Amino acid sequence: MEANISKKWENVLEKVATNMSAVSFDLWLKPLEIIDIKDGTLILAAPSLVSKNQVLKNFKDALKSAISGEFDYIADFEVFSPEEKEEYLKYNKPFEEENLTQVNKQEFETFNSKYTFDNFVVGKSNQFVYTACRAVAENPATRFNPLFIYGGVGLGKTHLLHAIGNYIKENSKDKKIVYVTCENFINDYVYALKFNSTNDTIITNFRDKYRNVDVLMIDDIQFISEKKALQEEFFHTFNDLYQKNKQIIISSDRPPREISALEERLKSRFTSGLIQDIQKPDLETRIAILEKKAAIEKYSIESDAIRFIAERIDTNIREMEGFLSKVIFYSSLLGNNTATLSDAQEALKNYLETNKESLSTDRIINVVCDYFNVTKSDLIGKRKNKEIATARQICIYLITEMMDLPLTAIGEIFGGRDHTTIIHSRDKIEEMAKTKSSVSVAVNDLKAMLSE
Ligand code: ADP
Ligand code: MG
Repeated sequence: MEANISKKWENVLEKVATNMSAVSFDLWLKPLEIIDIKDGTLILAAPSLVSKNQVLKNFKDALKSAISGEFDYIADFEVFSPEEKEEYLKYNKPFEEENLTQVNKQEFETFNSKYTFDNFVVGKSNQFVYTACRAVAENPATRFNPLFIYGGVGLGKTHLLHAIGNYIKENSKDKKIVYVTCENFINDYVYALKFNSTNDTIITNFRDKYRNVDVLMIDDIQFISEKKALQEEFFHTFNDLYQKNKQIIISSDRPPREISALEERLKSRFTSGLIQDIQKPDLETRIAILEKKAAIEKYSIESDAIRFIAERIDTNIREMEGFLSKVIFYSSLLGNNTATLSDAQEALKNYLETNKESLSTDRIINVVCDYFNVTKSDLIGKRKNKEIATARQICIYLITEMMDLPLTAIGEIFGGRDHTTIIHSRDKIEEMAKTKSSVSVAVNDLKAMLSE
């Protein structure tokens, strides 16, 4: 029996509720309402702007991981304020359980129709990876197999994988193509294992699901690090597909040799085809990307405003696009038809002044090491000595508080710890800061030092 959306949503809430007080659960989470499911994102509405902000501030990671664990095909969520909800419903049909259960039956994530080759701007930084992806989309399993692409966050890896998917779906309808994020792949596997002892068919189904395909794409494979059993499973999936001459495409935020605790044999499989990196785009490419985005979204914005944005962000295109939306939103609030340079300067003023860029996980780790006089390798390592363990937990707590990072990514920084360990450390310090003055003093000192 397929559980319906509301039932799954109840499960999500139940899961998140175990880690919070009943009062804040009733206040913030219970009133959330499902509006829609779109492009692998669950869209929720909060009864007020305040509650939207509270949800995002306090429960973002917990909700995200519960949601992606519960829904196979949903990896993220968004919360709308009442105004945003109203705006959204002007252009979209409201939530209807029947429409959504259709989606529920889809086994895999679907492709975002905006992520096409046509919408991808090619420049020096990404021309080789673009060419490779295009070649694979046009003729799967002929030249580059596996294709392994890597590059920093927000540089277009997921966009390219979806572009391959959209292209193949359009041009070779008979091909079975599967895209999965590594996170969902892990969840799926964990689920299969959990029931394997009582029901053999579940693990068989899992295997069939990933082996009866013409093209398998796994996004953000770095999360497989440290997961021994899954690596083993994936090794066999890989060999099976490869022997049947099926295409395998993998993305990662780093090259195979830098994925920690990755089995040698998988490393050598990953490097046996083509490995191609995506670099940071130069200014010209960034401007072209913003112009394209503006054209797609039908934004009207002057070219010096575009340049102003492109000059200020050079590491992450997603962030740059976020800046563009902020500027457009700001200028629409002023009632302007076209966003100007001064709109851009005003809209981004606060953001650029606080200069959050200087805060990084490295900086937090260094400051914590200095403060407690421990070495970095001890801090992120496995030593259980009490002083070191406390310093480590405080560091994890600060990173979860001050940086907008997924728990799995934080776990990765701390030597591949599980996200539940990260949650545990965070909660523990939050509690201790209330009862133990040495902890609250340290946390406050460190926060002050890091906000300088
Ligand atoms: P990654 O998966 O590498 O973290 P994404 O593929 O999610 O990054 O890209 C982040 C955003 O930037 C997406 O909205 C994507 O469409 C956009 N983007 C990245 N590179 C390009 C490009 N070369 N041309 C157009 N849009 C791009
Ligand atoms: Mg991605």
